[in-house]
Amino acid sequence: MTDEFSIEAIFTALRSVFPPGNAFVPLHEPCFIGNEWTYVKECLDTGWVSSVGKYVDRFEEELAAYTGVKRAIAVVNGTAALHVCLMLAGVRAGDEVLMPALTFIATANAVSYCGAVPHFVDSEERTLGIDPHKLAAYLHKITERRDDGCFNRNTGRRIKAAVPMHAFGHPVDLDPLGEMCCRFGIEMIEDAAESLGSFYKGRHTGQWGLLSALSFNGNKTITTGGGGAILTNDEDLGRLAKHLTTTAKVPHRWEFNHDMVGYNYRLPNVNAALGCAQLEQLPAFLVAKRALAERYRKAFADVPGVRFVTEPDDAHSNYWLNTILLDQAHAGQRDALLAVTNDAGIMTRPAWTLMNRLQMFAEFPRMDLRIAESLERRLINLPSSAFLEGEAHANA
Ligand SMILES: *Cc1c(COP(=O)(O)O)cnc(C)c1O
Repeated sequence: MTDEFSIEAIFTALRSVFPPGNAFVPLHEPCFIGNEWTYVKECLDTGWVSSVGKYVDRFEEELAAYTGVKRAIAVVNGTAALHVCLMLAGVRAGDEVLMPALTFIATANAVSYCGAVPHFVDSEERTLGIDPHKLAAYLHKITERRDDGCFNRNTGRRIKAAVPMHAFGHPVDLDPLGEMCCRFGIEMIEDAAESLGSFYKGRHTGQWGLLSALSFNGNKTITTGGGGAILTNDEDLGRLAKHLTTTAKVPHRWEFNHDMVGYNYRLPNVNAALGCAQLEQLPAFLVAKRALAERYRKAFADVPGVRFVTEPDDAHSNYWLNTILLDQAHAGQRDALLAVTNDAGIMTRPAWTLMNRLQMFAEFPRMDLRIAESLERRLINLPSSAFLEGEAHANA
């Protein structure tokens, strides 16, 4: 190997992680090798497929226990979970909500559903998530405290909440972010959609926000087909979240009374059954995913011009999607590398287009985004399914 950057060297390193052969390697595939069939069959056999059933309750209890929060509320997807988190945190039409520019569209969409305005903030290269110190300095410059909250002096709008997102499963620096939110009078909501199984300072992500959102979409670490959950340590908010996501029906043996405009955001029992089976396998998935990440780390250790992204200090990551970063000087080679790998049947993907560059969000406020812009140019996600590791071993 030369010490020059070459697409060939990166491709060879990537190839070495997988078993020989020409099988297509997807970015992230679900894995159903536990009790999925048994639990789902039971739903079909008993007719409990829809809005109520024992698997919903069980999934919620087991999620709360695993993530270490008082209450978990299963919902229809992660976007709906974020929407309800924001509403319950008091985000109202015309408010601004801080969020990373480098995130999946769901974060910005959920803010828009509230009639609120996304305000895009920069990331740090270490975590790929919000840079708490840069954000604090920025807020210090542009905001003022009033009786009713923190206001953006430039726009006159209230900044009600901040939504850090744990990109690809790597926890954001939550302690300084939480302190900053406290100091400025801003509610913190974690978009933990990608970070089930990721811990910060020994505690599961999702415990720092007033409320947090998980996703169980088909490409996430565990899946219910489609699904999500709201996490909170506030019992009252937990009760409200359940009420609001189940059409706000007042319990009664036969009467249909509803005491607010609620949402039909329930997770069906048949999906929760999948979730229970998947949760049983989560520890094994996490072991396999970390082992796969370790193979990547080793494979890329001596390849010039590229860095494999590892978990930040203080964090234990689920390595949901493995990630490499090209050095600045070679960012121009990203698309060529994407082409070579995808042509060879190894599915790789660039980062999301930054939210501020999408036409519907282009006019919204943002701070200097130079790190997010740099990450966007240099970042590539690698195949990350849990079972890849087993396969690699079997063929090693
Ligand atoms: C997956 C994901 C969500 C939620 O997506 P759904 O498909 O609605 O479950 C939200 N935010 C981020 C960052 C995600 O990756």
